[in-house]
Amino acid sequence: MSTETLVKSYKIFKKKYGEKYSGLFQELVENGQSPKTLFIACSDSRVVPNLITYTKPGDLFISRNIGNFVPPFDEESEASATPAAIEYAVSVLNIDNIIVCGHTDCGACKSLHKEIPEDDIEMTNIRKWLKFGDSAKEQAIAFVGNKDPKTLYSATEKFNVIEQIKNLLTYPAVKRKVADGSIFIQGWYYHLHNGELEYFDPIEHRFLPITDSLRSSHHTETNEPVDIEELMESNQ
Ligand SMILES: [Zn+2]
Repeated sequence: MSTETLVKSYKIFKKKYGEKYSGLFQELVENGQSPKTLFIACSDSRVVPNLITYTKPGDLFISRNIGNFVPPFDEESEASATPAAIEYAVSVLNIDNIIVCGHTDCGACKSLHKEIPEDDIEMTNIRKWLKFGDSAKEQAIAFVGNKDPKTLYSATEKFNVIEQIKNLLTYPAVKRKVADGSIFIQGWYYHLHNGELEYFDPIEHRFLPITDSLRSSHHTETNEPVDIEELMESNQ
């Protein structure tokens, strides 16, 4: 989409929603934001959190990055946009829920299975960032092997959601609030081709279609082993 088209789209937005939501916009400025959910998603242009969840301005605090990764808590880390977003959402905004949303056909998860040459300076940060998906890659290979790329990529995308939830629990504030029941964590998996959503059910240890009541994944704090076979059934 060109800049020119974006400007045209902006004018439509202003005309269509400017009036409709003027009260909401004003209220959100006067009272500040108080979203209840931190939504961690991939930067992929096809994954649009507010569209998927049919939400309005002020509803979601969103952190998007390549691969919907959550770097483990690291006091020494310098590049920490996602960790800062997590801490702000949890410790300042006092959100109630964290959703880690992976998706089908994820370019980041595919890239985990390709080598990026050390001397390719133009890919330096991508190479470094992708290390946060290594554990998902290793688990996927261990479970489905690497003969069928489609199966491997799908497994990687799902293991990636689970691994990033584990990483969330390395943050002191997240761990504390999960332990006292004031934060619930869920792992979602979005199907690009039809808009369907699945979630990781911590009791059944696999991804299931989203229904009205979802079980939180917060019990993963106990590091309970995941039943990989059951988990991957939904990949078949
Ligand atoms: Zn992606």
